Amino acid sequence: CGITGYVGGRDGLPILAASLKNLEYRGYDSAGIAIANAGVEVYKQEGEIDDLDLPAASDATLGIGHTRWSTHGEPNDANAHPHTDCSGDIAVVHNGIIDNYETLKADLMDRHEFTSETDTEVVAHLLEDELDASTHLRAALEAVVAQLEGSFALAAITADEEGIVAARQDSPLVVGRSDGETFLASDVPAFIEHTRDVVYLDDGDIAWLTDETVSIWNDGEPVQRDTDHVDWEAD
Ligand code: GLU
Repeated sequence: CGITGYVGGRDGLPILAASLKNLEYRGYDSAGIAIANAGVEVYKQEGEIDDLDLPAASDATLGIGHTRWSTHGEPNDANAHPHTDCSGDIAVVHNGIIDNYETLKADLMDRHEFTSETDTEVVAHLLEDELDASTHLRAALEAVVAQLEGSFALAAITADEEGIVAARQDSPLVVGRSDGETFLASDVPAFIEHTRDVVYLDDGDIAWLTDETVSIWNDGEPVQRDTDHVDWEAD
């Protein structure tokens, strides 16, 4: 299972598909990609990454991808990530387990329509609620994460913000930086053909990624993380 993300100046769709292929070795039963292309477009399916039905190209320069190793809900198209909120304007990918999702889901059920059996989908609906109240996706995810118990690497995009928000708790996430482009992944091989300059997120980190910047908060405070240069070769 794995997460990928891209924000930059190029078509993100083939970049995200290739980065998912690079994470294939981690094992998965379903795959999917969400891109911000005026609205949020989601392509997701049970099965192989190569079978994922994607347009040949897009105008989207922002997106997230996922390979799923299902823990809650059988492997099928509906349970594949990314998951969206009711408006379809928020997309979320997740590795790990949200231990308290049943309680959260019970609270959300009267106002939100669920379309999967996953633990993950609560995050999309919680984000929708928080975005109504707050101005920025980063603040919204911070408020959502405060309600979650369990282990997670999370990434989300919306139709109208030009960046990716990510959160880490007991599940790996690494950011890759190059000129005018930022990458996100569970592991460096996902994007090593594009950059070797990486920032490893720590537990509790919330990151806001744009094409030019990586901003990280932990416990509500901005934090600085070192950029490492990776010089090993990917297999
Ligand atoms: N718990 C989530 C699910 O079952 C994420 C699984 C994963 O890490 O791929 O969909």
